[in-house]
Amino acid sequence: MKFSRSVLIKLLVVQCLAVLCVSQNFDFYYIVQMWPGSYCDTRQSCCYPKTGKPAEDFSIHGLWPNYNDGKYPQNCDRGNYFDESKISDLSSRLVKDWPTLACPSGDGFKFWEHEWEKHGTCSESILDQHSYFQSALDLKNKANLIQALNTAGIKPDGKFYSVESIKEAIKDSVGYEPYIDCNVDTSGNHQLYQVYLCVNASGTDFIECPVFPHGRRCGSEIEFPSFSSSRDEL
Ligand code: 5GP
Ligand code: 5GP
Repeated sequence: MKFSRSVLIKLLVVQCLAVLCVSQNFDFYYIVQMWPGSYCDTRQSCCYPKTGKPAEDFSIHGLWPNYNDGKYPQNCDRGNYFDESKISDLSSRLVKDWPTLACPSGDGFKFWEHEWEKHGTCSESILDQHSYFQSALDLKNKANLIQALNTAGIKPDGKFYSVESIKEAIKDSVGYEPYIDCNVDTSGNHQLYQVYLCVNASGTDFIECPVFPHGRRCGSEIEFPSFSSSRDEL
């Protein structure tokens, strides 16, 4: 089959545009980690997963593709279903580091499915389903937030700490400033709920945040509630 010169040029342009579209459909990720103690001590409460009470550590909420202007894509490919068989080798890490605390108790699959379908499908050209979950797990380990805070003397002991000292401790350890998201416990105390860090579009390295989310305000001093293993099962 022979193509004229102009048809060949048109084909080339279409192909270039397709590559551009695929590689530029988001700018960076937020990796969002939550403090289980602050998810559970609220009015909504929580249910421990069927696999047992999670460790006293931050857990993954999600790895979220975002645009530099603060907007974000969601539910990008309804045809790319969550397939648990693709991540079976990651299941013990997921149970440990990405537990579900919503009620009723689950084994995590619904939560992971939700995160893949809402957020993961928006970066499927860069990270397939396996790489998406693996990258989130690797980033969580790399950040090691609980150790970063511990090193600075900030512990989940129910005491109040300044938001600035929390940000500073994480920045000293990870190298980049996090965004701190707070919620409110049943007594009305503002507390450390989620930590956002920014990650490059390949999902490999932390970066300076191009934009911080517009979230809930923390106040200057916030509680770091406990989630110790001695607490009664809910
Ligand atoms: P919330 O209103 O609780 O902060 O967020 C609800 C949900 O919206 C989040 O769990 C997440 O799925 C999505 N979301 C909220 N803010 C952002 C954001 O800044 N970037 C992205 N990518 N998703 C967000
Ligand atoms: P997002 O806020 O990311 O859009 O949605 C989180 C969804 O996952 C909600 O429907 C929530 O009920 C469910 N979910 C299940 N387990 C958890 C959990 O441990 N933490 C959070 N934040 N959401 C969970």
